[in-house]
Amino acid sequence: MSSKLQTPIDYLKGVGPNRADLLRSELGIQTYQDLINLFPNRYLDRTKYYKINELQRNSAEVQIIGNITGFKEITQKRGKRLVGTFQDETGRIELVWFRGQKWIRDSIKPNTPYVIFGKVNWFNGVFSMPHPEFELLSVHEQNLSSTMQAVYPSTEKLSNKGVTNKVMNKIMQSLFLETNGRFAETLPDFIHSELKLLPKSDALFNVHFPKNQELLSRAEFRLKFEELFYLQLQLILKNLIHKSKIKGVPFNSVGPYFNSFYNDHLPFELTNAQKRVLKEIRHDLGSNAQMNRLLQGDVGSGKTIVAFMSMLMALDNGFQACLMAPTAILSVQHFQGLSELSNKLNISIKLLTGSSNTSQRREIHKSLENGDLQILIGTHALLEDKVKFKNLGLAIIDEQHRFGVAQRSKLWKKGPSSTLSNDSEIQIVPPHVLVMTATPIPRTLAMSVYGDLDISIIDELPPGRQAIKTVHRYDSNRLKVMRFMRDEIEKGRQIYIVYPLIQESEHMDYKDLMDGYESIVREFPQPKYQISIVHGKMKPVDKEFEMQRFVKGETQIMVATTVIEVGVNVPNASVMIIESAERFGLSQLHQLRGRVGRGAEQSFCILMTSFKLSQDSKVRLETMTKTSDGFEIAEVDLRLRGPGDIMGTQQSGVLNLKIADVIKDKDILYSARFYAKQVLTSDPSLTNTENKTILNTYRELSKYKNIWNYIS
Ligand code: ADP
Ligand code: MG
Repeated sequence: MSSKLQTPIDYLKGVGPNRADLLRSELGIQTYQDLINLFPNRYLDRTKYYKINELQRNSAEVQIIGNITGFKEITQKRGKRLVGTFQDETGRIELVWFRGQKWIRDSIKPNTPYVIFGKVNWFNGVFSMPHPEFELLSVHEQNLSSTMQAVYPSTEKLSNKGVTNKVMNKIMQSLFLETNGRFAETLPDFIHSELKLLPKSDALFNVHFPKNQELLSRAEFRLKFEELFYLQLQLILKNLIHKSKIKGVPFNSVGPYFNSFYNDHLPFELTNAQKRVLKEIRHDLGSNAQMNRLLQGDVGSGKTIVAFMSMLMALDNGFQACLMAPTAILSVQHFQGLSELSNKLNISIKLLTGSSNTSQRREIHKSLENGDLQILIGTHALLEDKVKFKNLGLAIIDEQHRFGVAQRSKLWKKGPSSTLSNDSEIQIVPPHVLVMTATPIPRTLAMSVYGDLDISIIDELPPGRQAIKTVHRYDSNRLKVMRFMRDEIEKGRQIYIVYPLIQESEHMDYKDLMDGYESIVREFPQPKYQISIVHGKMKPVDKEFEMQRFVKGETQIMVATTVIEVGVNVPNASVMIIESAERFGLSQLHQLRGRVGRGAEQSFCILMTSFKLSQDSKVRLETMTKTSDGFEIAEVDLRLRGPGDIMGTQQSGVLNLKIADVIKDKDILYSARFYAKQVLTSDPSLTNTENKTILNTYRELSKYKNIWNYIS
C-alpha cells in the first residue's frame, strides 16, 4: 500500500504534467501520499442555495441556481473583460471573466439552468461574481455526494491556472477511486478501541468528503491524534536514545558543600517548587546519563539559588562548574550574588567577561586547568578555546533564548576527557547541562519542541511578594506620572525608565532615548536627584559603572534601553516605566516588569503609549494590566504571534504539523503524549507484536521524512 502512495502525482487521473508541476511548486505535493495529507482549511455547505434577492453586500461564497441570459464584452485600458448576465426569478447579477473568455462563450449554454458558485462583490448597486465555478444543474444533481465540500489551501497561481477548488476536489476523488479508499492502518488496535477512533481509511475519507459534521469531527480527531502521537514518540525516543548513549559524569554523593550550605547558610527557606526542582536535578546528576535539562521559571521565581546548589553538587564530587549569562551586566550580578552565597563555604569563584584584562585571564586559565578554580561565571567569553577546564562537571546557561544551539554544544566539548578501558581512544564526557529560561514557553509548546530536553518548572514565587500594580497611561498623562515618580523617590524607592531600541529604527530610537533622558534631567535636577543612563552604544566598563551606581542606590533613576531586560536584580527598584510600550512584544514587557517587585515594597509598572494603537498592541497592553502570570502571558503571545515566531526557524517542527495545532488541540496533545510515553515505557524498542503497527508507521515516516524533516 505504501508503495502505491509513493507514486508521483503525475500519474493520477486528472492531473497530468502541467498540473503536477503546479502542485509541486505551489503546494509541495510530490506523491499520492502528499496529496492525501493535504487537509482542507474549511468546508462549505453545498446544500444551501441562495436567491439573488437574498445576497448581502458582505456575503461570502454563495451558490445560486439560474440561467445565463447573455454576454457582453467590455474593453478597457487594462484589457477586455467578459460580462455575463445571470438571473433567477428574484433578480440578476453579473458574472465577470478576465481570462479564458473564448472558452467560456463556447462552452456555456444560454438559458439553461446552471448552478454557479463563487464569491460575490458589490459595486455601485450591482452584485457581481468574478470567475464563478459553474455546472449544469442536471449534472450537479447527479454529482452531489457530500453535503459539505472541502476547501483546500490554494495559491493565486493555482487558481489563475485553472486549478480551482473544484478541480482539487475532482483530483482528490480520483485518488480515492484509484486506491479504493483503502489505506494502511497506522495506529494499534488497543489505542483504537480505548479511544474509539475511526479506522484510518474512514478518517481520511471523511476529512476529504465528510458525510456529516459528526463524522468529520471524529475524522479530524483521529488524524490529529495520529500526527501528535508520532511527533511525541519521536521526541521521547530521541530523549531515551540520548540517555542510553550519552554517558555523563555520575555525581554519586551529596557532600559537605551542599549539606553545609543547606543546613547553615540558606538565606531563606526554599519554596516547594525550588525543592522539587532540586530533587529532579539531583536525580539526573546521580544517574549515569548526561543531564540535559531545561529549567523554566518566571522572572523572580528564584532560579539562581537552584543553579548555585546544583553547582555545589558538582563541587562535592570533585568537579568544576560554570555559569554562562548573555550579558556582562548579568554576569557581574551573578558573580556578586554567588560570591555572597558562597562566602562562608570557602569556594574559589571567578568572573570572566569581554572586559577581563590579560593578567586576569591568564590567572583564570591557569587555575581552571590545574583545578584550583571551582566555579567560573561569565559571558560568551567562556566559550573561547583558551578556556580549558580540568574537569568540568556542570555547565549552566542562563536565559537560554539568547544563546543558540551551537553555543550549547560548544560547552559540551569542555567536559573532562576519559580513556575507555577497552580501547585507547580518548573520549570527551560532556558536562551535565542545565539551561535556565525566564521566558515561559507554554507547556504544550515546550512539550512539542523541547521534547528532547527534560523540563523542570518553578511555578511558585517566593512568599511575601506583592503583585506589581500595572497601569497603561497615555503620553498626555506624563505630568502625573512625573509627580508619582517624585513621590516614590521621596519614599526612598528607585525607578527604571526603559526605551525601545529596534534595530531598523536605531537612529530615531537613540534620539528618543536622549531626548527622554534630557527631559528627565530637567525635571529631576541635581544634586537632589541622580540619574544613570545605560544603552548599547556605551563601552562595557561605562555601562557597568552606571549600573553599579544604581545598584548601590547612588542614583534614583535608571534611564535605559532594553540592555537591562535580562536578569538584573535591584530589590529597591520598585517602579518600571516603559516608554512606547506598544512597540515591545509581550514577553519583553513581562521580562521588563520582572525587574521590579523584587523587594518588600509595593511595586508599579507604567506602560506609556501614544493614542494610536493597533489591535494587537491593545491586546498586549490589556494582557499586561490584567495578569502577571508568565505562562498565561506566553499563551496570549503565542496566539498573537504564532509558534514560528516564538521558537525561531530552528525549532519549527510544530509548524510542519499538517492538521493538528499545538494550541487549539492541547488536549489531544496531552493524550497523544500519554500514549506515546506508555508505549515506550513498556516497550522501548517497539518489538512487541501489539506495537508492530507503530514500528512500521514510525519507520515509514522516518524514511519519507514527511513530518520529521526538522529533526536535526
Ligand atoms: P530569577 O528566577 O528571575 O533568576 P532570582 O534567582 O534572581 O530569580 O531570584 C529573585 C529574588 O528572589 C532574589 O532576590 C532571590 O534572593 C530571592 N529569592 C529566591 N528564592 C527565594 C525564596 N525561596 N524565598 C525568598 N526569596 C527568594
Ligand atoms: Mg535570573
